[in-house]
Amino acid sequence: GELTSLPDIQASKLEIVTTKSPKPLPSSSDLVFGRTFTDHMLTIPWTANTGWGIPKIQPYGPLSLQPSATVFHYAQELFEGLKAYRDTTGRVTMFRPDMNMKRMNTSAKRVALPNFDGNAVIELLKELIRKDKHWIPDIPGYSLYIRPTLIGTQAALGVQPPDEALLFVICSPVGPYYPTGFKPVALYGTTEYSRAAPGGIGSYKLGANYAPGVVAQREAAAKGYAQNLWLHGPEHHITEVGTMNTMIVFEQPNGVTELVTPPLDGMILPGVTRDSVLTLAREHAEGKTLIEGLPEPGKLVVNERPVTMKEVKEAGQDGRLVEFFGTGTAAVISPVNKIGYLGQDIMIPTGEDGMGPVSRPIWKQLVGIQSGIISHPWSVTV
Ligand code: PMP
Repeated sequence: GELTSLPDIQASKLEIVTTKSPKPLPSSSDLVFGRTFTDHMLTIPWTANTGWGIPKIQPYGPLSLQPSATVFHYAQELFEGLKAYRDTTGRVTMFRPDMNMKRMNTSAKRVALPNFDGNAVIELLKELIRKDKHWIPDIPGYSLYIRPTLIGTQAALGVQPPDEALLFVICSPVGPYYPTGFKPVALYGTTEYSRAAPGGIGSYKLGANYAPGVVAQREAAAKGYAQNLWLHGPEHHITEVGTMNTMIVFEQPNGVTELVTPPLDGMILPGVTRDSVLTLAREHAEGKTLIEGLPEPGKLVVNERPVTMKEVKEAGQDGRLVEFFGTGTAAVISPVNKIGYLGQDIMIPTGEDGMGPVSRPIWKQLVGIQSGIISHPWSVTV
């Protein structure tokens, strides 16, 4: 017989239930990252027999799940994080939502949760954001953090692909990560635990990756460091900064500036900010789209290659360590001024504004694109 495929997510089927009790908008100065949520959320159910069901925008509120739901037992959960920005004209945009949808589907596949049409979810995100866009504070640097999530909801113990799932999206107004200018952070090079392993799940945005990081982070904090730096293997390869990708800038012996990030070898989360920084830096280095302030094309190379702590330490000793920073949606760029490693501190230079010669121009360009000051196809109008 003919194979009939089950329905995918259909944005046109959207049902909207508007809240009868809108919450008071928070004062922008009270906003703590991820603590305040808007009036509405999006939910889309799925079952193995019927496919994706009716998308619904409804008042933000508790979900009703069986205690036997697989998400609670086997961590059948994955999530995404992206932001929507409001520019000075009131136009609202999302930054590269297609990348988040692609990564969400990649994560879903890895844990046998259902895939879906990312474009349909982008259309639904637009509807949700339009409904709650007044929650984006009208202040530069503020945005709406969007958290799409997918969970297994089958009421059954037993490790297997769940036959029921729920995709939901909640939104949280957030302020700038560094309200008073860039504050470089100190990292603790964690050698006691590893975040990811070859063949493991480090490159997927699964909740299961994050719970074990809390202890490593807490131990770094107890030693006086803001974040932990995840290392891998006997040579202590640099992988990620807490929940950010890592970028390192070396001055090569020939005077060329090298921007390096570890390769996507299965242990690194393919960050949207990582990709954006690499793309902008490469376009500059190739002379295509010049970014003011960066070393001129020919004096800047961009490499995805493994980096060990030994290399970083030696470059620091030789005065060739130019910068070290994390990249991610929340902070965009997070400069590092110190790495505690095997009982010693490796010092990293930072400029007066906390940033460095490569991160500063790239940050300016990226934030210009995100906030709509620089027009760019990465910015998607809601
Ligand atoms: N690595 C990890 C482990 C993360 O959780 C994140 C945040 N999603 C990132 C890197 C940065 O990814 P992105 O730039 O897409 O926010």
